Amino acid sequence: MARKVENTGFDCLNCGETVAAIEKGTIRNHCPFCLYSLHLDILPGDRACDCRGIMRPIAIEPHSQKGLQILHECEKCGLRGRNIVADDDCREEIAEIMRRAAFG
Ligand SMILES: [Zn+2]
Ligand SMILES: [Zn+2]
Repeated sequence: MARKVENTGFDCLNCGETVAAIEKGTIRNHCPFCLYSLHLDILPGDRACDCRGIMRPIAIEPHSQKGLQILHECEKCGLRGRNIVADDDCREEIAEIMRRAAFG
């Protein structure tokens, strides 16, 4: 039983911005304004997880093929997950997370 994978928008629970779905290709799984995510998916895009915790961006890591990825940690259950940085993600936030990770 495969669930239909949907590419939908959502309201960010951290900063309150309405986040539109990405038109082409990728599943939108984090807020481009504050980079927070929600623990909604078991598999990317399936929205099948009941946790619904806020996932905080804790680090930026290089990905060998896809550029940068954000390491998220769920504030509710502690699960960590990685998401590729989207084209319209806030570059200042990315720089801030890298700075915080490097200097504490
Ligand atoms: Zn946000
Ligand atoms: Zn969680």
